[in-house]
Formats: sequence, structure tokens, C-alpha cells
Amino acid sequence: MRESVEVNDQGHLTIGGVDTIDLVNKYGTPLFVYDVERIRKNARAFVEGFKKLGVKAQVAYASKAFSSIAMLQVAKQEGLSLDIVSEGELYTALKANFPVDKIHMHGNNKSKKELEMAMQHGVGCIVVDNFHEIELIDQLTKAYDQSIDVLLRVTPGIEAHTHDYILTGNEDSKFGFDISNQQAEQAFLALKDHDYIRLKGLHCHIGSQIFETDGFIMAVRRLFDTLGKWHHEYQFEADVLNLGGGFGIRYTDEDEPLELEEYVHALVDEIKQQANQKDVSFPEIWIEPGRAIVGNAAITLYEVGSKKEIPNVRNYISVDGGMTDNIRPALYNAKYDAVVANKMNVERDYETSIAGKCCESGDMLIWDVLLPDITAGDILAVFSTGAYGYSMSSHYNRFPKAAVVFVENGKDQLVIKRETYEDLVRNDLSYE
Ligand SMILES: *Cc1c(COP(=O)(O)O)cnc(C)c1O
Repeated sequence: MRESVEVNDQGHLTIGGVDTIDLVNKYGTPLFVYDVERIRKNARAFVEGFKKLGVKAQVAYASKAFSSIAMLQVAKQEGLSLDIVSEGELYTALKANFPVDKIHMHGNNKSKKELEMAMQHGVGCIVVDNFHEIELIDQLTKAYDQSIDVLLRVTPGIEAHTHDYILTGNEDSKFGFDISNQQAEQAFLALKDHDYIRLKGLHCHIGSQIFETDGFIMAVRRLFDTLGKWHHEYQFEADVLNLGGGFGIRYTDEDEPLELEEYVHALVDEIKQQANQKDVSFPEIWIEPGRAIVGNAAITLYEVGSKKEIPNVRNYISVDGGMTDNIRPALYNAKYDAVVANKMNVERDYETSIAGKCCESGDMLIWDVLLPDITAGDILAVFSTGAYGYSMSSHYNRFPKAAVVFVENGKDQLVIKRETYEDLVRNDLSYE
């Protein structure tokens, strides 16, 4: 069976020791259910991984994967740092009492207002993305007479995908400074002797849903080529090297993720070697997992409704959610696996596709999955929906957003309420 779930005596799917059918009766559908113990295990795999190797590190949860007050409280309990990309994500972190000095701000178009908010609250680090931003930070630090730690985001020219990685000379990306031309160095020179901006090191993020360590190792080498050069020419020593996120998880049985510790080992090994080779000091290592912290910790529960059987073509069953709570299949052709939560002991002999209920032909959750004979009123559970599900959810067709429940030690707790129709029209004004 999958991470976090089991089957009980009634043939029901359980998660974190709680019967999913009881959860549906209590909270309705669609419903996101997170197994908090799994979130903790994922977080600890990274944190303990570095600790065991005696390496100073920060594991920053990329909160865009799933941001809510409860989630950030768990991240805080586990000693994680936090990545945020917007005022809204920062606001959520502040509401969760997340330690501000452990918050890192990202974004390729940070507004002056966002940077101001970050500085006012004393955000720990800003990951500088472009020249416009350097100007803004320069102005703000001088205006407020306030220093700030920054990392320089660079594109090392490596695109890592699930199973392959591509070495590109020039990276075609909206993020960061290109390391292969003069951009990164120009930015470095603008920052290195700045009175207020303290350049702590470099950042890169090479992709997502990565199943191998090679791409990360190549990125480390690229970064050290640059650090070696800057050390030699400008006596610069990086305190921090941030390798981003992208650690892959299992969505379907075709995915074979590495143990999270393996990424940690590979990174530490390579960074040690490179630091020796280039004769620079060993930096603190930061990583930014999002998906790998929450992805496999949640399932989504839906109620099954209509069914359409097209002989010799395909069967469709529809559920009471879809692209409004999980846009990844429509957006990226992402694959998921599902079971019928109230028929776990029934043989899977009915092939069907699973449709959402939005007015879009592309609103499909899963193509061609084998399930038990399924009828209206059954509960479908889709696995590994913890990352980029709720956080990407929308109000298309004016569907209220789903509820989110945390389970741990056999207990369940609502952490995001289901939206009401009143919520949907809250900001609507009449025009008469
Ligand atoms: C999206 C993102 C992450 C997290 O990616 P995951 O694939 O969820 O681990 C980390 N860092 C940066 C800069 C990102 O943009």
C-alpha cells in the first residue's frame, strides 16, 4: 500500500489511523486529508540527514506547495526554515508565528511593497533575482538605514527533469542571473562591497520532481566553478550555498523516488569535494523542498456521481471536484493513482477514467485507472495530492474551495474550513 494509508476491518481506506469514510461523513467532499506524521517524517529525513553528517544546514519548506497556518506551524515545530514568494505567503507565515529570521523571500518580480514588507518584518534572507530588484533593495536599505542578507539566484544552465537533465549553455528562464555570461558576475560586483546588502552566497533551483542526484551534482560543480573564480579574483567566500528543491515523490507506481537522505548525502559529498578542490571554505547548505515535504502526505477524497460508458472507447466516472482542487493533470499532464475508499477489499476489474465537474473537456483527474465496480455515492481517494493541489486551487465555475483536515495519532482536526457560497460573493459589489 501507499505511504500513510491502510485498510481497516470494514474494507475502508484509513489515513493516519482514521477511517476516510468517517472523515467524509464528518467534513464532506472534496476533502484534502494530510497525515501529519508523514509530513514530520519527510521533514526529519532532510533535517536529520544533515545532522547525522555533522553539516550545518537549513531545510526551507517551499510554502507555495501548500501554505496554511496549520501547515506552517508544523513546519515550525520541525525546525524548518521557510520559503515565501509573495506578501500573501509572508502574511500567512507571520500569522503562524513563524520565526521571521528563518524566512527566505523569493520571486522574479518582487514589488517594492513586498520588499518593504520583508524588511520591516526582518525577513532572514532575500534571494535576489534580477537587476531591477538590486536597485530596489539598494534604495530601501539606504532609506531605512537597514542591512539585509541576500543570496544571488543564478541559473547554472542545467535543466533537470524527472529522469533526464539537459546541459544548456544559456538557460532560457525567467529566473535568476545567467552564470554562463557576465550577468551573474555583474550582479555579484554590484553587491559584494555594498554597505547594507550582505551577500551570503548563491542560490539555484534546477527543476522539480527529480529522481536522480546527477542534476544536483552538476549544479554544485557549476556553482563552485564560479565560487572558485570569485575567490581567486575577489577573495569572496560564500557562507551559504542553496541548492533549491525539486526532490521527486511517488504519484503512481511508475515513479521510483530516492530516499530523501540520498539527496542529502550526494549534495554534502559533492560540496565537500568541490570546496576542497577549489580551496574555498565549506559553506552552510540550504535546500528548499516543497513537494517532498507534503506531496505524499495527503489524499483527496471525492464523492462519485455520474457515469458514462462509451462502448469500445472508454468509461468515464465523474467526481464532485476536479481542476478547481487539482489542476496538475490539466496543466502538466500529471499522473495520479486512486482507489475506491469504501471498497478496498473489492477486486479492481473496471477500467475507467475520472473526470472533474468543471466545464472544460480537459478537466480530467486520471485517465484509464483500474478500480472496483464503481457507482454513485462511492468515495474516490486520489493519492499524493498534498503539494500544488490546494495551493493551486481556484474558483472556476464558482466552486467553493475544499476543506483541509489534518490527522495524527488517530485524531482528525479541521485546519482549513470549506468555503461557503457567502465566501464566494464576499467581495462582489452590486451594480444597480
Ligand atoms: C518551486 C520551488 C521550490 C520547491 O520545489 P519542489 O519541487 O516543490 O520541491 C524550491 N525552490 C524554488 C526556488 C522554487 O521555485
